[in-house]
Amino acid sequence: MDTPGAPSSDTASRATGTRPRASAACVLLLLLAACTPVTPVLTPAPNATRAATAGAPLPASPAATAPVPPTPPATDTPLPAASPAPALGRPAQALDAALDLPAHTLAVRQVLTYPNTSGVALDTLVFDVAPDAQPGVLALESFSVDGAPVAPARDGPHWTVSLPRPLAPGALARIETRYTLALPSIPAGASDSTGGFGWTVRQTNLSDWYPVVAPYRDGAWLVHAPFGAGENLALEAADFDVTLTLQNAPGASVAASAAGTAGEAGGATRWRFTANVLRSFALSVSPEYVVTEQRVDGVLVRAYLFPEHQEAGAAALAAVARALQVYGQAYGPYPDPQFSLVEADFGDGLELGDMVFLGYSFFAEYDGTPRNWLTLIGAHETAHQWWYNQVGNDQALEPWLDEALCTYSELVFYENVYPDAVDWWWDFRIRRFAPQGYVDSTIYDLPEFRPYVNAVYLRGALFLSELRAAMGDEAFFAFLRRYVAANRGRIATRADFWVAAGDVPARPALEQRYFAPPSPAPR
Ligand SMILES: [Zn+2]
Repeated sequence: MDTPGAPSSDTASRATGTRPRASAACVLLLLLAACTPVTPVLTPAPNATRAATAGAPLPASPAATAPVPPTPPATDTPLPAASPAPALGRPAQALDAALDLPAHTLAVRQVLTYPNTSGVALDTLVFDVAPDAQPGVLALESFSVDGAPVAPARDGPHWTVSLPRPLAPGALARIETRYTLALPSIPAGASDSTGGFGWTVRQTNLSDWYPVVAPYRDGAWLVHAPFGAGENLALEAADFDVTLTLQNAPGASVAASAAGTAGEAGGATRWRFTANVLRSFALSVSPEYVVTEQRVDGVLVRAYLFPEHQEAGAAALAAVARALQVYGQAYGPYPDPQFSLVEADFGDGLELGDMVFLGYSFFAEYDGTPRNWLTLIGAHETAHQWWYNQVGNDQALEPWLDEALCTYSELVFYENVYPDAVDWWWDFRIRRFAPQGYVDSTIYDLPEFRPYVNAVYLRGALFLSELRAAMGDEAFFAFLRRYVAANRGRIATRADFWVAAGDVPARPALEQRYFAPPSPAPR
């Protein structure tokens, strides 16, 4: 784990430092299976120019921080078998999963109702199957489309399925599959890239644990290989109906991407969760969690903490609750009734739909002040509920669209909540790294994490600071609210960003300073 204040650390986390990972080739699957490796582009960047922190903070209103008593789960709620809701132009995922906690196995029946919104007939579907990136994890038992058995062509985490008949524009496909996951153990010292899926002796985590149909854009399926320092998924928002049967797990608590109800079923505990318009649905199970909660602006914020970190946990809960309120005022409201903060038994932070992980070491190193990684990364990961969960993006090819905005959101948080710490934030987060590199770098351009973070996160924040100074505070935050409103539930692009920004005379100069020059060939 990294040491705050050690900018040259090579063991730090995704949010904070350098962590080289195994290399792999990028693939962009074009229709059937055309594979286009992406050559890393390492282009010298102009020196970073630090922009002034423009303008006054947003008006803050006090948070409602009084703890509320835990809500007991309903014990008599009927738990029907998973059945997809009518698709409303987005996929509907019905997942019925049984977790044997000591055996580390998850048996899943999944019914995905997929609407063809592409405008053209599709004769194949391409799936992102993140668990299949690791050999030996996913055992496929059956796969069918509209009742007809089909054998997917499995290429690691990318599956191509030839449809029994073409799927007309506007039509629905019902994909039913059964599989068992042999969950991997999360190694000691793991970061978010491996910590979000698998088990430790304290915690079992399920992020990106089910197949999704990849986005289809401009005649191509947007699937990208895991690579380097960044995340690689482009995810459509979906509706979820998730049933989790917990076996051999007395006393375990379940953190999830939605509020749930629990009942007994044959000696096991059966949970059911429903949520709409989420980028992903995650679960985390531990017999050790101490659960605390507070309500802010109508949102129930729940923290799942290890017992040795109650003081730091209370600070983290207060920070993410306050961040939800600040961003709700700045960007538009948080749209869902619940948000979960989970202490991770691994390093770094990880954003998921309506849920975030914060790394164990952030809690262990908490110093009683807001000037630390726990508060800073808590604010960062909470911002992903706007930049990732509400407004999606291609995390492999346009990671700046979520990471630059989340890093800049840290500053928005400090301006509003701890204005005396704003200068500290600039020094601690940005200046000491003297960041260089193009803001619009892909995860394949910069495979080492420190250069990637410096370019995409840190110079991204510098770019946004200059854009705010050029537009003025009122116009800048009005632009971000327009951007969210126009792209909520969508996968936004750089073009969408500038459409929402409107006519910005400083745009050419800013793009020249911060973005890669236009290339005649696709990067
Ligand atoms: Zn982030």
